Amino acid sequence: MDIELIGFAAPWGIYAFILALHVLVPAHKVRGYARHPETDEPLGYRLNGLPVMLLTVGAWAGACRLGWLPWDWLWTHRWSSLAGAFTLGMLFSIAIMVGAPSTGRGVLVEFFLGRRENPQTPGGRVDAKMFLYLVGATMLALNLLSFAAHHVLVFGSAASLGVLLHVALFGWFLLDYLFFERVHLYTYDLFAERVGFKLGWGCLTFYPYFYSVGLWNVADQPSPERGMLWLSAGAIVFFAGWMLARGANMQKFFFKLDPSHVFLGIFEPETVQDRSQALLCSGFWGLSRHINYLGEILMATGLAWVLGWPAALGPWMYPLYYVLLLVPRERDDHRRCAAKYGALWEAYCRRVRYRIIPGVY
Ligand code: NDP
Repeated sequence: MDIELIGFAAPWGIYAFILALHVLVPAHKVRGYARHPETDEPLGYRLNGLPVMLLTVGAWAGACRLGWLPWDWLWTHRWSSLAGAFTLGMLFSIAIMVGAPSTGRGVLVEFFLGRRENPQTPGGRVDAKMFLYLVGATMLALNLLSFAAHHVLVFGSAASLGVLLHVALFGWFLLDYLFFERVHLYTYDLFAERVGFKLGWGCLTFYPYFYSVGLWNVADQPSPERGMLWLSAGAIVFFAGWMLARGANMQKFFFKLDPSHVFLGIFEPETVQDRSQALLCSGFWGLSRHINYLGEILMATGLAWVLGWPAALGPWMYPLYYVLLLVPRERDDHRRCAAKYGALWEAYCRRVRYRIIPGVY
């Protein structure tokens, strides 16, 4: 595995290209959920993730179509590209920490979790968190397309349908995330986390390279020749997970905007409430306290399944990672909500008893 300069530089160039598009492409301007620490005003955001990703993927595909790049260029240079993204992620994590006031939690914890809450460029043109997620999603899309292209170039008409379905479902996952970019202004990372190694290196390196671990493992393998029943089962698991995650996120988003909103016209907003605060306990939020996490894990399971290698560890590392991420995250969020909502949270937990999997956990 030789590290080549061109591959090493690729993510730097691609990320700079995405930044330029993000700055230049007209954006939807919205107010978010996180607030400015001094003025307590909701922070402003420019959202243009979907057109930026489509333009970047289109530009990449155009370059391949014109013969300037092989379709599987990012597969061929994957190790060098990973090394470049790793280095950039480390440098970013150091740079974002330097000069920021300490939170008093020790340098190592601060390096990992970050010091700055919601860094934005002056004037708010670029928000670090939203840009990091956009870069991660777009680079992941390019990696997946390149890895799948490698598979098709090598195996031709004997290519695995599972690989193609995996890329299609992942495409859905990424487009869905960017289509509903605004909804993600209401998620834990945006209002509760700081920008450090976890978020910075996480989005610049881990997200685009580890989330492609399934194809990284099987793109150079011949098709396991799984039939339609196998592929359909994986797609059903994926979309069942998508409905749980997307449904729960949307229901909470509308509830935060308007507590009387009847979600999808059918879910009346039942709540537990005290004088000043309310927590949803109907619809998706009556099934378990984080049914959206179950949804994410099911989506990841469907993605691993359709690849058709049930006994190989590689593809399963992706859903396994989700379990390791989301189970402790639910505990963290539980502590945060218990501190914020007090007795109301206890009443909510009595009403909605399960943490993630209804009837089980
Ligand atoms: P949630 O969307 O569950 O948000 C938790 C917050 O919602 C709580 O801190 C609380 O905040 C509020 N809340 C909790 N319960 C209720 C309730 N019953 N009624 C009203 N408000 C409530 O979790 P995350 O932000 O962690 O996740 C958001 C999405 O992102 C999920 O779908 C998750 O799976 C996904 N995700 C995806 C990842 C990926 O890599 N693809 C990684 C991590 C998450 P408040 O103080 O506002 O009330």
